[in-house]
Amino acid sequence: MNTADYLAEVDRYSAHNYHPLPIILSRGEGAWVWDIEGKKYLDCLAAYSAVNQGHRHPAIVAAAKQQIDRLTLTSRAFHNDQMGPFLRELCELSGYEKALPMNSGAEAVETAIKAVRRWGYRSKGIPADQAEIIVCTNNFHGRTTTVVSFSTEASYREGFGPLTPGFTIIPYGDAAALEAAITPNTAAFLFEPLQGEGGVIVPPEGYLRRAAEICNAHNVLLVADEIQTGLGRTGQLFCCDWEGVKPDVLVVGKALSGGFYPVSAMLAGEEVMGVFAPGDHGSTFGGNPLGAAVARAALKVIVDERLAERARELGDWFMGELRAINSPHVHEVRGRGLMIGVEIRCESGPARPFCEGLMERGILAKETHEQVVRFAPPLVVEKTDLEWALGHTAEVLAGAAVKA
Ligand SMILES: *Cc1c(COP(=O)(O)O)cnc(C)c1O
Repeated sequence: MNTADYLAEVDRYSAHNYHPLPIILSRGEGAWVWDIEGKKYLDCLAAYSAVNQGHRHPAIVAAAKQQIDRLTLTSRAFHNDQMGPFLRELCELSGYEKALPMNSGAEAVETAIKAVRRWGYRSKGIPADQAEIIVCTNNFHGRTTTVVSFSTEASYREGFGPLTPGFTIIPYGDAAALEAAITPNTAAFLFEPLQGEGGVIVPPEGYLRRAAEICNAHNVLLVADEIQTGLGRTGQLFCCDWEGVKPDVLVVGKALSGGFYPVSAMLAGEEVMGVFAPGDHGSTFGGNPLGAAVARAALKVIVDERLAERARELGDWFMGELRAINSPHVHEVRGRGLMIGVEIRCESGPARPFCEGLMERGILAKETHEQVVRFAPPLVVEKTDLEWALGHTAEVLAGAAVKA
């Protein structure tokens, strides 16, 4: 089969819930991927930051192979010898007391929602079924029915009702709006310390610290979704570290498994995690030994290879170079670490044709929110690879705005 055959097949058999670039990938290594025709591309999306460690990192490959030969799934009806060490290592690294393992990011967000609601009733004394969670405009926390209930993206919600109540939406980056939205029934404030899917939106300096102070003063749990920003991506282990903020609840996923297996977790202290008792919450695959072994190796790579520092150094330099590109089409370059967005001026049309131009030159970047080209390569990317990509990016961005 050639590329056209594969595209026709997926068009015929798949739900049309994505709009991928028209290439068929069959191999990856480090920051690079290859299509079935043998063409090589620099991966500047890294599976939405799930592949921070690079494709098929050898240490994670070895851990996965070893574990596959031993034991893959026990369910939580029994213990296994990988989950405990995984949770201990995750807690030690992140500074939390407890971790609850799940699979997808959205599941971990759901877990956090359940935990903070129950905490609200039991610890804060919120009347039954009245708990409120404050969230932000332009948020992205996943695709489950409850999570899309508080999305501000119409297409994520439209036709999927009845939606889950109990969420108050405030403008992102506005600490005063947070304080004003808090009521005696507010259990938590759920936010991204930098909005990824929302278009690489960096909140104003001091926002995270201010939000933490406000939540603390009002006995509201601060819940950070670091599924995309966490584990080194923005140049710190967690993006909240940029302002020295330690959320009450932290949600991680994506790079937690280095792209091998869906592994996510909710992290919290004893008091919040203590709301769960046997039978109250669970997942057949959550905490499975294969996922746990993979995640242990994936976390070790982040630490051993100093991927957060790498993201900071490479990101600072790369963002500077992108800003120096003289293009009539670029409105703004923004981000932190290796999570960088190049916003295309509306007059220049959408970002998609620029992504297609980059793809033709061997660079895979994906538009987010119509106008933004996101650059978020694996954190193991070589500076020389990025230098190569800059030349092509400059040409694509400087070129005529392509067909809309
Ligand atoms: C990707 C993402 C999610 C959802 O993760 P899934 O594994 O796709 O369910 C949630 N929150 C943020 C910030 C994300 O980037």
